[in-house]
Amino acid sequence: MDIKSIGVVGAGQMGNGIAHVCALAGYDVVMTDISADALSKAMALIEKNMARQVAREKISETEMAEALGRIRTTTTLTDVGPSDLIIEAATERETVKQAIFEDLLPHIKPETILTSNTSSISITRLASRTDRPEKFMGFHFMNPVPVMQLVELIRGIATDEETFAACKAVVDRLGKTAATAEDFPAFIVNRILMPMINEAVYTLYEGVGNVKSIDESMKLGANHPMGPLELADFIGLDTCLAIMNVLHDGLADTKYRPCPLLTKYVEAGWLGRKTQRGFYDYRGEMPVPTR
Ligand code: NAD
Repeated sequence: MDIKSIGVVGAGQMGNGIAHVCALAGYDVVMTDISADALSKAMALIEKNMARQVAREKISETEMAEALGRIRTTTTLTDVGPSDLIIEAATERETVKQAIFEDLLPHIKPETILTSNTSSISITRLASRTDRPEKFMGFHFMNPVPVMQLVELIRGIATDEETFAACKAVVDRLGKTAATAEDFPAFIVNRILMPMINEAVYTLYEGVGNVKSIDESMKLGANHPMGPLELADFIGLDTCLAIMNVLHDGLADTKYRPCPLLTKYVEAGWLGRKTQRGFYDYRGEMPVPTR
């Protein structure tokens, strides 16, 4: 199936980036959110990020204007119904996602492909509650979407080859690289990344190193562009904890137990950059380690 139009559900951190890259690649995009404010913020951010690409000569002003002209926003979910491909990027809560797909079903074409950008919810389970598990997939972008090269494509147990091929063709047209993952907790990137971050927190918890020495060790000793604790703050400590819980519950192996210190930071509301405090304190000019 040749995809020409894409519906994006959710205009948060991920949704705006998804609309941005899809519109630049020439797709007609309809982006929906329950919040009109989220939609206007998303459009302002897309404009700002595209203007930065123009300034860096990555795209031309004409390409930017054309791409912006291809994005339509609406607070009516069913307006995404006519799209060939729907990418759901709403809040990471299963009941929210399930309700979105349920509400969409009467308004979509028989050939429409449904996908979710979920980081951790089972694709097979989400798909099983729709009328088309064979046309349902995980379409997992990385944050920030316009910058990150990878998209994980996750097949549910019933996903058919035609659906996979159509989604792979979209990833190719976006100029990104697809990695195929099977539908097991946290897929590939987070399955490997989160236990590493969790282990960095254990290293801190046990006093093997402090925030600075742990981050510096991994940057200079393993050539990572960011230290694991700095990266955790960027992702959000609540998100890191949620994914560790998904691994722990879903794979039932004690090696995935979340570090009590990670839980403590989340309980304190120290969630990283978004709350200005996590493993670093961002309230001053320079980030200051909190341990
Ligand atoms: P976010 O909180 O920034 O945005 C979610 C948006 O969904 C909000 O604007 C909210 O108003 C909207 N929303 C909630 N219920 C809705 C509904 N019923 N209909 C339409 N819109 C609704 O979240 P985010 O970080 O953009 O994450 C979105 C999805 O992407 C999640 O599934 C998350 O797991 C996944 N994801 C996030 C990241 C990341 O680093 N943040 C990376 C990869 C995947």
